[in-house]
Amino acid sequence: MTHTLRLILGDQLNAHHSWYQTQDPGVLYVIAELHQETGYVRHHIQKLCAFFAAMAEFAKALGQAGHRVQHLTLDDTAPYPDLPALLRALIAQSGARRLEVQRPDEYRLLAQLTDMDLPVAISLVDSEHFLLPFEELDRHFQRGTAHRMEPFYRKMRKRYDLLMDKGAPLGGQWNFDKENRQALTPADFDRVPQPLCFANDVEAIRARLARHGVQSMGRLEGPLLWPVTRAQARELLAHFCRCALPAFGRYQDALSQQAPHSWSLFHARLSFALNSKMLHPMEVIRAAITAFETDETINLAQVEGFVRQILGWREYVRGIYWANMPGYDSLNHFDAHRPLPSWYWSGETRMACLRAAIGQSLEYAYAHHIQRLMVTGTFAMLIGAEPDQVDAWYLGVYIDAIEWVELPNTRGMSQYADGGLLASKPYAASGNYLNKMGDHCAQCPYDVKDKAGPNACPFNSLYWHFMARHDRELARNPRITMVYRGWDNRPESERQAILERGQWCLDNLERL
Ligand code: FAD
Ligand code: SF4
Repeated sequence: MTHTLRLILGDQLNAHHSWYQTQDPGVLYVIAELHQETGYVRHHIQKLCAFFAAMAEFAKALGQAGHRVQHLTLDDTAPYPDLPALLRALIAQSGARRLEVQRPDEYRLLAQLTDMDLPVAISLVDSEHFLLPFEELDRHFQRGTAHRMEPFYRKMRKRYDLLMDKGAPLGGQWNFDKENRQALTPADFDRVPQPLCFANDVEAIRARLARHGVQSMGRLEGPLLWPVTRAQARELLAHFCRCALPAFGRYQDALSQQAPHSWSLFHARLSFALNSKMLHPMEVIRAAITAFETDETINLAQVEGFVRQILGWREYVRGIYWANMPGYDSLNHFDAHRPLPSWYWSGETRMACLRAAIGQSLEYAYAHHIQRLMVTGTFAMLIGAEPDQVDAWYLGVYIDAIEWVELPNTRGMSQYADGGLLASKPYAASGNYLNKMGDHCAQCPYDVKDKAGPNACPFNSLYWHFMARHDRELARNPRITMVYRGWDNRPESERQAILERGQWCLDNLERL
């Protein structure tokens, strides 16, 4: 007889949650493929398959550990229009008097769960995943207030005593940005590690998605390369620490299309395993620090660069999200309304950097941070793309895209649509930056050195068009004032020609 139903959402695959420390035959765990989750945005096919496969594996592992589990597929949940309807049916069938749920990380699901009308009491428990407890978020983040990552990160370093030496940062400095962030040269190419890819069979899931008419984007040819079990996730973590961590920080901002394995370079590709909670962030941080302590090829700059991503950025964007939701998802500081060019969904553009970033996103459901921020993200901001559309693209295309982490990164960091709650200035850049950090320009039909000619790199003129459109606001930003001084010193005819080329690009986005 069932007294309690425990609902496990698709991104709550935390095998170490205290729920599972004891077995109670009166507790029934339910993990369900929900139609509402396949359709709130158009997801990449690999993302759909990865979540459903990982959920099935998690249910299997719970069953093997002696828990009562009901794993429901899209076939089973088809009669129920949404989550509340399914839960009402499950409560009636099981006779449960209580429903327990780990607090969702998405506002949309939290609102749905807390607003629904059910015949039993529902209680929310912590997901036991994040390093900053949910109850403490409002001590660090306030709604509508700008917060920066660096002071938050330093507090977290001290709090968890990570890479610290008697209260001071190990090595005497908090970050090593100056040493890190180098471009990759052909001399470094043989250091790029072969990515560890799995070969998970997801044919049955694909068939199910097709049977239920689920719309998707991107490609999946053959087996799924992403980890779908905790064992695979641990293997990926070990592979990262051994093969990529030794140069992670140095090349974390590098872009390349000529290097081998250019789609992954020295990145961990652990975001799906983390966001589905198969891995705990502290487990990942400790593995990296242990590798640093035991492997002399890993220096402090590399491990600090990595710890900062997880202890700093990942926890910080979650704080920005919860402090500003609801409402953050409709901010549009620049009042941008242009549709995203259709080639964001096909990769069919002549611009080599965008073609590569979008092409690999469609092929692998993955792009690394600088591709997301400075290639696809910057371009969307420069053209004044509608943030809702930009969000929908990012939320759909990436394997790791869940709103609590996607939204602040996209709307805040990449589009500055929050007016600076997250970033101190827009991440605007011309082709010069991309040429410095990457090697695409040599393969591109556009000329990165040219700003106004018929073959000029579109990033150049769009950058200045953007700066000119928003000069009243941005010229007052002390971090940008100098840029306007340089612009004002150019001859009027040159400025005019650049702005005309920028306008031409805006009028002809589909042809670029
Ligand atoms: P690595 O470069 O190896 O970094 C290691 C880990 O650090 C990542 O797995 C991730 O957990 C964490 N991390 C690094 N940067 C960030 C960050 N800015 N915010 C949060 N965590 C971070 N990340 C997501 O997990 N989901 C998203 O939907 C997402 N959308 C993004 C959208 C845009 C426009 C931008 C600019 C960034 C986005 N990011 C997102 C952040 C970051 O790009 C990805 O976490 C990273 O590329 C994942 O690949 P990786 O595991 O190889 O990361
Ligand atoms: Fe991108 Fe411009 Fe370089 Fe082409 S020339 S790859 S569009 S930055």
